[in-house]
Amino acid sequence: MYSNISIPDLEEFIITKSFEGEGLYQLHVELERKPHQCPECQKFTQKVHDYRLQKIQHTQAFGRNTMLFYRKRRYICEDQECRKRFYEDNSVVERYQRQSIEFNQALSIELIHGKNFKDVADRFMVSSTTVMRRFDEISSTKLKETTDLPRVIAIDEYKGDAGGEKYQTIIADPIERRPIEILKDRKKQTLVDYLKQNGDKVEMVVMVSPTVIKSLITTV
Ligand SMILES: [Zn+2]
Repeated sequence: MYSNISIPDLEEFIITKSFEGEGLYQLHVELERKPHQCPECQKFTQKVHDYRLQKIQHTQAFGRNTMLFYRKRRYICEDQECRKRFYEDNSVVERYQRQSIEFNQALSIELIHGKNFKDVADRFMVSSTTVMRRFDEISSTKLKETTDLPRVIAIDEYKGDAGGEKYQTIIADPIERRPIEILKDRKKQTLVDYLKQNGDKVEMVVMVSPTVIKSLITTV
């Protein structure tokens, strides 16, 4: 069954199935079958070799937490000498994934400046569970990957009530727009120690207010 529903900005997707399950809105999509030029011999082919299912996490299609199942097509060159197999042009999928990445980054920063999970969840029109899961991911992996800070960093305060301290200090990458580290308090010495240990490459420090970060995100 083919549907007439289109995903905003991604009308090239053909939706073959859509349903709600396990708290997710699941979309099964594929791209239109059309002549593709063989990257090897430049001849055109429409002959399908096979399909692979690619799972793409979450975005805000229809304002819901969405999982995309993309049935990625592989063509085969019909030239008997060539027989090259290659994936269809899926730049539309790459664009979709990029949007998802931007959404995640925006969410990461909102998490830091939002009042609470519920507040952030409402603004992003996702569930609190999603927000909490993202927060766990950010604090357990993303924040611990960095040992060398980038050339430009941003420092901000965070009212987090962690470990008996009312305020923490956020170190963020304002260019990549992602949080790097959360320091346990906002004492000057903590920051100085941290920069001594990780800040060899730092040339510029930006003091950012939530408003500035938000305007950065919306101009993406
Ligand atoms: Zn070919």
